Amino acid sequence: MEPNLLVLGGTLEATRLCRLLSEAGVRGTVSLAGRVAKPAAQALPLRVGGFGGTPGLAKYLATERITHVIDATHPFAAQMSANAVQACAEQGVPLIALTRAPWQETAADRWQRVPDIAGAVAALAGAPRRVMLAVGRMHLPEFTVNPQHFYLLRLVDPPAEQPGFPDHHVIVDRGPFGLEDDTALLQEHRIDVVVSKNSGGTGAFAKIAAARALGLPVVMIDRPHIPPRPETHIDEDVLRWLSHAGTERGV
Ligand code: NAP
Repeated sequence: MEPNLLVLGGTLEATRLCRLLSEAGVRGTVSLAGRVAKPAAQALPLRVGGFGGTPGLAKYLATERITHVIDATHPFAAQMSANAVQACAEQGVPLIALTRAPWQETAADRWQRVPDIAGAVAALAGAPRRVMLAVGRMHLPEFTVNPQHFYLLRLVDPPAEQPGFPDHHVIVDRGPFGLEDDTALLQEHRIDVVVSKNSGGTGAFAKIAAARALGLPVVMIDRPHIPPRPETHIDEDVLRWLSHAGTERGV
């Protein structure tokens, strides 16, 4: 049967993978949640919006006769990834995740690792600081319990409403970001702590490297749990997997 893929996207890596799949002449659709106003151009046909939980996704897989699912969502998109594991198992559709290796702390880093967003909020209790808060728009309200800080916010879209911080500065920009620029940014705003998800990959690493270069502490949020599934960090593995998945599982 000719493959008909569903790529769960929303990352630079997914955009890159779709280009590779399109160049290889593979038929498929890429799905985005619809969180950003102007998503990056995609090399595969695009659908936008939630499926309606696991049952909605299972139904979509059946109706659209999807033969393979590639989960290339962000490592913090835990709900979508869990739904994909369950819906694919129910429908007998092979699934692979294209993920980024997490960033690793080196001797030159000053990380405080926290398990989740609530842990990061708790880590910011105390005296006023100048914080680069790089956790995405959705989680900003959770940080408003610490209004004593200055917050530097870098967002993909201009915020629809004012973030609830008395002292903040918004930069609207999307990755990939560079070390020189991020070092200059941290210096310009006299940042003394960076708060980041452990997203992994290269596109968002510059702020971590910049904090390392400047000797600044980083509150690093660990990744959420995702049920086990076949996984690779390498685009070409996905093509190799496509050529045999359905007859055997894994890469
Ligand atoms: P999430 O919490 O795991 O997902 C919540 C719900 O949003 C899902 O249950 C699903 O709705 C819908 N959804 C998520 N990704 C989708 C996709 N690719 N296509 C269709 N529906 C999707 O995910 P999230 O953290 O809100 O992330 C949303 C999107 O932004 C993802 O595509 C992710 O790759 C991207 N992103 C996330 C982050 C981050 O830090 N979380 C950072 C950069 C990019 P239904 O249950 O209705 O199907």
